[in-house]
Amino acid sequence: MILKSRSLKFLVFCLKCIVLLGIFKYTSFCFTLENLKVNSDTKEFLTLTKYRPRLYLTPEKITFIRSKLIYYPYSKFWKYIKKRAYIYAKETPPISAEKYNENTIRSLGNRLPYIAMAYLLTNNEMYLRGVKKWMKALCSYPNWASNEDLGAAHILFGMSICYDWLYDKFTSEERALYRKKITKHANIFYKLLVKGKKWWARAYLQNHNYTNVMALAVAGLALYGEVKEAKAWIEIAKENFKQVLYWLSPDGATHEGVNYWSYGAEALLKYFMAMAPIYGLDEVKNSSFFQKTAYYRLYMSLPDFRDNVNYADSPYFEYHGPGFILRCLASIFNDGHAQWLAEKIEYARGKRALYSWLDLLWYNENVKPIPPNDLPTYAYFDNLGIFVDRTSWSPNGIWVFFKAGPPLGKFAFSKGYYKGAGHVHPDEGNFLLWAYGKWLIVDNGYSRLKSTVNHNVFLFNGYGQLGEGKKWFNEEAIKKYNGYAQIKYTDFKNEYKYITADLTKIYPPEARLKKWLRTWIFLPKGYLIIKDDIEMKNPGYAESFLHLGLGYITKTNYGFLYKDYNVGFKLYEIGDKPDKVIIEPTFFIGKRNKKNNNSRFTLHFIYNRSNISSILLFKIFHGKEEEKLVFLKKTKNYIEFSDGALEVKIDFLKKKVIFE
Ligand SMILES: [Zn+2]
Repeated sequence: MILKSRSLKFLVFCLKCIVLLGIFKYTSFCFTLENLKVNSDTKEFLTLTKYRPRLYLTPEKITFIRSKLIYYPYSKFWKYIKKRAYIYAKETPPISAEKYNENTIRSLGNRLPYIAMAYLLTNNEMYLRGVKKWMKALCSYPNWASNEDLGAAHILFGMSICYDWLYDKFTSEERALYRKKITKHANIFYKLLVKGKKWWARAYLQNHNYTNVMALAVAGLALYGEVKEAKAWIEIAKENFKQVLYWLSPDGATHEGVNYWSYGAEALLKYFMAMAPIYGLDEVKNSSFFQKTAYYRLYMSLPDFRDNVNYADSPYFEYHGPGFILRCLASIFNDGHAQWLAEKIEYARGKRALYSWLDLLWYNENVKPIPPNDLPTYAYFDNLGIFVDRTSWSPNGIWVFFKAGPPLGKFAFSKGYYKGAGHVHPDEGNFLLWAYGKWLIVDNGYSRLKSTVNHNVFLFNGYGQLGEGKKWFNEEAIKKYNGYAQIKYTDFKNEYKYITADLTKIYPPEARLKKWLRTWIFLPKGYLIIKDDIEMKNPGYAESFLHLGLGYITKTNYGFLYKDYNVGFKLYEIGDKPDKVIIEPTFFIGKRNKKNNNSRFTLHFIYNRSNISSILLFKIFHGKEEEKLVFLKKTKNYIEFSDGALEVKIDFLKKKVIFE
């Protein structure tokens, strides 16, 4: 008996081994096949997709949010969300979507999460009826604009959220209808990505890529387990965002401007947060871009914290958040500064503050706001070559901006990557000035024709910077000539900030430019100094522009006086004087909206020679117009001046600023 049982045990053992070996062999086989791409069938993945809701929410999270709605700041988010949801739920959707274009149709998709969230938080059937009404209408439209870009992405995203969040509240017929439409549109995006021919499909530095591919991934998560293609949608999105993470500007900045930063960051976070329960957030936490990007938004805020700088295609007032984006970053990085900034911008905007249904989801009350007082007043985003400084963190001060870098940043340039530069402006060497609540030297903002003359820079022999002349920045021109600008020297001290940039290579050969070095110096005591050293092939002529704010400019014996009520500057011309200076009404080429005009006059400097060495010195004032400066010495490479209280010596050859 004993022997028998022993041999039986041995037999069982052998059988177990065979089975285990088989499993091992099978799993390793699966591994090699599946992990060529992305293995989405992980345990976490299968667990997540067993439950609903599975996108951003869990039943526990809904209960938690409900319990918080009466407390600040949840209460202010909820007030905003509920108001929107009510309006949207009561609306009658349009019978046809034919009159909507790629931009306007987005708002139809944007409505859905608001109504769905209001239903989840109140159980009020009116909201459920609202969701069903909109879902039905969106299914009935044969096309969502072109079906191949942002319009379709916004609707695909909104429908996927509703499908997941309210899964049990729909009938099986309703679900089948929604599923069919979501599948149809997700497959369109999937094919575009596989083929890679659509411009945004490989543009890993462009907001269209983020938004469209994020919507595809979210559709995949919503339909996973029900539609066989869903897995492929998720996998291709995962591959795409691996590329995006690789290319994102490591300094946390963007070439697309602040408004597209918000729009892009919204899509990126919607993607990574949707995938987080499966893959975690390590990719985001380890990304240099994500680590720094809340600080980019902090420094791009003007001292009033209501508005932001409008370089590239951006208005002063961004229209995506940015509260929920900053709150998400605050939560991921346990970053009190990001938490503070979200609240600060909303407070400064008052009734104009923008919120999102995502504020309720992404606000983490455990992250305590920290004001930026412990941070430097300046920041240098060295990949894109953007420098900003302010005299203090209070709204009553001076804020300055300078930009000089490769249009898509040093990293992309070093790898010869040029895709996704459409929103860039030909603005290398541009400088901007804001003081005491007013813009003094401005950018053109969003433009439908990218043009060098819209910026405070030079034309040489009539030629502007590479990339200009089209509706969207011409990345081919940059590629063809290997165009770039470069900050070559920096010295950041409390008493001054000193930058020298080489802008020679950002112009085409036709400009006949041999050298343009621009030195930019800011003294927080109220001085901005711009020194230009230019050489062209003979003969040559140059023009430069200074776009002023909404004040008035007059010619004086020392240069110019600019005043906007009680704020302004005295402009001293030192070194080579222009042959002609024209004060002309500002005309921004390609301005999207004439009413947005933020500039009244432009100073247009003309130099009829091929070598120029000029210095412009701005003395910024607030309140009483200050006394004239006394220049003790001024040569091409050295100036010494006194304003009564302060004596300053600047040696441009030794790159030294000395105060006495
Ligand atoms: Zn611009």
